[in-house]
Amino acid sequence: MLVYNCHCKGDVRIWSGPEGSSHKNLVPCTMTFYLGEYMNIFFKQIIKELEKCKKSQDVPVSAVIVDKNNILVSKGYNTRQKKYNFCNHAEINAINSLFKKNKNKNLSDYKLIVTLKPCLMCITVIEQANIKKVYYYLENIKCDYSKYITSIIFLKINDEEQKKIIEKKLKSFFLNLRK
Ligand SMILES: [Zn+2]
Repeated sequence: MLVYNCHCKGDVRIWSGPEGSSHKNLVPCTMTFYLGEYMNIFFKQIIKELEKCKKSQDVPVSAVIVDKNNILVSKGYNTRQKKYNFCNHAEINAINSLFKKNKNKNLSDYKLIVTLKPCLMCITVIEQANIKKVYYYLENIKCDYSKYITSIIFLKINDEEQKKIIEKKLKSFFLNLRK
């Protein structure tokens, strides 16, 4: 695997601003998309988004979208319950907000990172947006992908520690529902 030196590595502040503007002023990031180096930074945002589901009692699922230069350009969390809209899954919210910002429906240059493997509805939208790669943490046991053919590449993130944190939040959500 090719790993380049990146001068922005580890600087969390650059990701919090709009479109990571300060990142652009630094030495251009030559990294190809290598999640290992960046995942800690993205993960902070993913968890931040996930926490937002609590208020509306939405299933905690969140997603972020990053561009070629590993700049976080969009984020979303599940707001189905909050907005009473079946389509408002985290992935779709993140995709729509980037679409709105870019005014361009072709999002082929972007990668999606999501806590739970997208459902079939979301996969259809990801295809519409032309996103080619999806990184995810947890398997979606509710979905039967066997009959669905897609060219999207799904890559499972194998960070046990991060996976456990997400899993715990999901589990405690469902446990609370049963109370
Ligand atoms: Zn979905």
